[in-house]
Amino acid sequence: QRKRAWTDRFQPALTQDGHRMEVVANIARVAEAEEALKAGAEGIGLVRTEFLFLDREHAPSEDEQYESYKAMVKALNGLPMVLRTIDIGGDKPVDYLGMSERDLSFLGLRGIRIGLARPDILRTQLRAVYRAAQHGEIKLLFPMIATSNDFRRIRNISESVRQEIDGPRIELGVMIEVPSAVIMASELAKVADFFSVGTNDLTQYALAVDRTHPLLAKRADGLHPVVLRLIDMATKAAHAEGKWIGVCGGIAADTLGAQILTGLGIDELSMPPSVIPGIKEKLRKSHFSELQRLAKRALQQEDAVAVRLLPIK
Ligand code: PEP
Ligand code: MG
Repeated sequence: QRKRAWTDRFQPALTQDGHRMEVVANIARVAEAEEALKAGAEGIGLVRTEFLFLDREHAPSEDEQYESYKAMVKALNGLPMVLRTIDIGGDKPVDYLGMSERDLSFLGLRGIRIGLARPDILRTQLRAVYRAAQHGEIKLLFPMIATSNDFRRIRNISESVRQEIDGPRIELGVMIEVPSAVIMASELAKVADFFSVGTNDLTQYALAVDRTHPLLAKRADGLHPVVLRLIDMATKAAHAEGKWIGVCGGIAADTLGAQILTGLGIDELSMPPSVIPGIKEKLRKSHFSELQRLAKRALQQEDAVAVRLLPIK
C-alpha cells in the first residue's frame, strides 16, 4: 500500500469519478521545498516564514529574507508558492520585538496584528516578498485576519509596497482561522483573491480551547462539526465570489479529514510533505459523490468522535 502510494506520488489526486484535488505542501525552510517536490507536491500551500524570525537576536534584514524566499520559489521550478507573512505570537514567541507575554498571547498581538502595530517589520518582509516574486509564482497569505477591515488595511499596505519597488501583482489571500472571519466571509471573499483555512487555530478559537494546553488540546479535534460547519460556510462564501479556498491546518493531513474536506468542495489541501503520497492515493481511490455524502453526514454529527466513527469505504 505504502509502496504503491510512493510510486504513484506524481499522479494527481483525481477521484474515481473525476474530481481533482490540488495537493500541496506546508514548509518552513528552503530544504523542505525540495523535499516537498520529491514527495509529489503540486506546489507549496503554506510557507511559515516565522522560521526566519525565531531563535535569534534581531529581525532578519530585507536581503536575508529576499534570498530565502527567492531560493524557495526557484526550487519549485514554476510551481506556485503561498507565502504567509510572519505569524509570531501565541505558540511562537519572539524576544527582540520588545513585546510582553500578554501582547504576544493567543488573543493579543498575534499574526497580522503585529504587522499592523509594527509596520516597519511588515513592510520589510513585504519588500522581500515582492522582490522574490520576480523569480517565480508567489501568493501572499495573511494570518489572524479577524475582520474585512483588517484585510483592507493589509491590502493597502501591500499595494503601497508593491508600487514602491515596482513589484509584480500577486494574489493576496486571507487565512481563515478566527471565527469572525467566517462570519464576514462573504465580505472578505469580495476583497481577497483566495482563502486558506488554518484549522489548528480555527478549532482553538471556535471551541475556546488553548491549542497548547496539555489536557484540553487533545480534545481540540479539527474534525469537530463546529469546525467543519465553519469551513463549509467559508467554502460557500469563497465560491460564491469565484474565489478558491484551501486548507493548510492539521486536518488536511488526516486521511478522514482530507476526504471530508474534499466532499465539502475545498479546492486545495496543504500538508507536511511526508503525508502527501498517502493522501493522494486515498483520494484517488475515493468517489467524490461518496465524499460529498460523507461530508454532509459529518456536518450533522454531535462531536468529533462521532465524525471519526462514520463508516467510509
Ligand atoms: C493553523 O492555524 O491551522 C495553521 C495552519 O497555522 P499555524 O499552525 O502555523 O498557526
Ligand atoms: Mg494558525
